[in-house]
Amino acid sequence: MGLVRQVQEVSLHPDQEDEMVWVGSSSGVFSIEDGWEALRQKRNLSRADRFIWNRVLQLRISFLVWKVLRNMVSGDVNLQWRGIKLVSRCCCCSLHEESLTHLFLDGAVAEQVWGFFRRRFGILHTSSPSISAECLSWFASTSSVSANHIRTALPCLILWCLWQARNKSRFEGTRMEPQGLICAVGSEVEQLGRANLWSLAHFKGDSNDPWVLFAAWRPQATRRLLISWKPPPQDVIKLNTDASVSGRRVSGGGLLWDHDGGLIFAFYEEFGDVDVLTAES
Ligand SMILES: [Zn+2]
Repeated sequence: MGLVRQVQEVSLHPDQEDEMVWVGSSSGVFSIEDGWEALRQKRNLSRADRFIWNRVLQLRISFLVWKVLRNMVSGDVNLQWRGIKLVSRCCCCSLHEESLTHLFLDGAVAEQVWGFFRRRFGILHTSSPSISAECLSWFASTSSVSANHIRTALPCLILWCLWQARNKSRFEGTRMEPQGLICAVGSEVEQLGRANLWSLAHFKGDSNDPWVLFAAWRPQATRRLLISWKPPPQDVIKLNTDASVSGRRVSGGGLLWDHDGGLIFAFYEEFGDVDVLTAES
């Protein structure tokens, strides 16, 4: 701090007041973002990371997948590896230790869930050597896959649902069932559709999949109606009225007709500052 004070006391331009300037930004003003950019080590974004930080998915799902791909999720084997003594038995078949690969990729339940969706999307390889290889096989499965595509979101949703089902099994004693998990994944896709997060572009190359119905785009059915004005019957007069709101200008008027279609009377009125329903009535 003494050095800072000494530097501050040096005046290069006595007629101007000194001010602190952050050289890391063009404006000279310090921001946390600029500070972080100056300090952090930059590396190329991995192909998997390019797709898991996905605008369609909730951040908590992307975070879980990011942790799964780095073997950072607290499965039993990972906890043992960190020195926590515990007996491990997986939640899917109770025959193995709970490693992340077993839970998320080649365990009895995970394998069936991946297999179901691989068949649905025509990804025909049998099994992947690692979770990241499985995700990459989806991301690279067609040339149509781009950020936010269903084939980038789906592997993330499968991992998310497997982790949810594992936790429910571990802490609430429920069974991990492949069919239940397949439905849970479908329900996640549907919820994203209800939130209008899917568009047809996210199903490019997969437009035959039933989930395309969840895409926000809906064909606009154009209804054409033939409308004609009819004169009133004999001895009856007809009044047509309408109002219009344009900015703060509200006005309306009407026409009174006889049975021959002859105009009897017309009126026009400025209503001042009223809402459209009041003007129409
Ligand atoms: Zn198992």
